[in-house]
Amino acid sequence: MKKKIAIHWFRFDLRVSDNPSLNYLSKNYDNIIGIYIFDDINSDPKLGSASKVWLHSSLDYLNKQLDGNLILLKGDAKGCIDQLIDSFDVEEISWNRSYEPWIVKRDKSLKMYLKSKVNVNSFNGSLLWEPWEVLKNDGTPYKIFTPFYKRGCLLAREPRVPKSEKINFFKHNFCSLKLSDLKLLENKKWESKILSQWDVGENSSLEIMKSFYLNGVKDYSDGRNFPIKKNVSRLSPYLHWGQISPNILWYELKRLKNLRENDIEVFKSELGWREFAYYLIYHFPHLQKKNLKSNFDNFQWLDDQVNFTKWSKGLTGIPIVDAGMRELWQTGYMHNRSRMIVSSFLVKNLLIHWRRGEEWFWDCLFDADAASNSASWQWVAGTGTDSTPYFRIFNPVTQGQKFDPNGDYVKKYVPELKNFPLKFLFCPWECPADILKNLNFELGKNYPYPIVDLKESRNRALSTYNLLRQERN
Ligand SMILES: Cc1cc2nc3c(=O)[nH]c(=O)nc-3n(C[C@H](O)[C@H](O)[C@H](O)COP(=O)(O)OP(=O)(O)OC[C@H]3O[C@@H](n4cnc5c(N)ncnc54)[C@H](O)[C@@H]3O)c2cc1C
Repeated sequence: MKKKIAIHWFRFDLRVSDNPSLNYLSKNYDNIIGIYIFDDINSDPKLGSASKVWLHSSLDYLNKQLDGNLILLKGDAKGCIDQLIDSFDVEEISWNRSYEPWIVKRDKSLKMYLKSKVNVNSFNGSLLWEPWEVLKNDGTPYKIFTPFYKRGCLLAREPRVPKSEKINFFKHNFCSLKLSDLKLLENKKWESKILSQWDVGENSSLEIMKSFYLNGVKDYSDGRNFPIKKNVSRLSPYLHWGQISPNILWYELKRLKNLRENDIEVFKSELGWREFAYYLIYHFPHLQKKNLKSNFDNFQWLDDQVNFTKWSKGLTGIPIVDAGMRELWQTGYMHNRSRMIVSSFLVKNLLIHWRRGEEWFWDCLFDADAASNSASWQWVAGTGTDSTPYFRIFNPVTQGQKFDPNGDYVKKYVPELKNFPLKFLFCPWECPADILKNLNFELGKNYPYPIVDLKESRNRALSTYNLLRQERN
């Protein structure tokens, strides 16, 4: 007689501990099969290059955790699952929910289809609060972060307490695809360079959390603003891929002693921003593609490929912008302060559409996340529901002086400027000729002239924005 089998479908929950779907199955089944489907047919947008690299390593790691029993499949999810149902005596299939619009759409129809064949269940494995649970009194979704978080989330029920069960993965003979069949790797040199700085996998995420809670979270509220400081967790890729649950982070934080309340609250509220991004993409599924404020649909963005390329390569001639863009290219990550500076520079000083920036980040970030990326770009561009106003334009020179006061971050990623005097490090174009000569440094040769004048481009952004306001009145 065939054994009754349950399938757990891994998606953005590439972990074994605190996995609600696995915990549920483990109570009822001795034989659980773990599968991963690389659904490159339905996915919209397609996975970015850095995401594929992270996924490749993560699946490799997860397969080892499952003693080589992870089944890899590729293509339309419905066809892949049908294939498994034909091969095993599957009684139940379950997964943890995802909130990207194309996945919500696919899962809805898939669930209907599968229900006629097997038991189907889904769980919340990646959010502290489900988006449909947090609503205003009138039943509509919040559009502003503070009431969403403080009234909607913090006054709601406590998030799920993390729990880990012993999971028995079934030793099967199914002919799984090999990891290399998924063809996730493309550019060996870049991929191994960005990966070399990370330890992918569930255990590393727990180690990083421990070390961050021991050292980095102290002074988080202030230190998180300085890109060179070790006061941020760098857990975003692990959170995005579900190698750690936000619930573990939330509850482990509660156990910490001798920390300032403010550091804890600010860190929790950053997890809250993550929740808000998923909330927005769930309630406003056009978040990734369209302005949430539709009056921006007539905004006169510039189609400037030359400046876009210089921005993406970190060759704008504005040191703090170039440092951020090079950090991204070299590490698959960028500090939040730098993300805010480089995105403001693109959409305001260069007047280039936020979607171009969003797409570049999507391709290069290990934590590229449909919800957080598009919500953040819309926040910076002023097109989101709760965004920084368009007329608030970062000055990258003063941002650099304030948040990289010793210039260590700029010097790390823009080594051409390592001998520059601090006074001119963030504005090399203002450096007097005699100093440049002593440094044997030629602007335009050793480092680019700025691609735009910061004051003029700021005024241009403001007048373009005013045109939009006049049109509306
Ligand atoms: C233009 C732009 C694009 C962004 N794109 C992404 C993206 O694709 N994926 C992504 O995870 N974050 C994105 N962010 C948000 C934020 O920059 C990163 O989450 C953060 O820098 C990750 O670093 P960390 O893990 O060290 O953060 P920590 O400061 O240690 O914060 C802990 C966790 O809280 C969450 N978080 C922190 N800040 C934010 C925020 N502002 N919005 C949403 N979640 C937050 C992240 O999951 C993060 O890992 C973007 C921000 C900007 C301005």
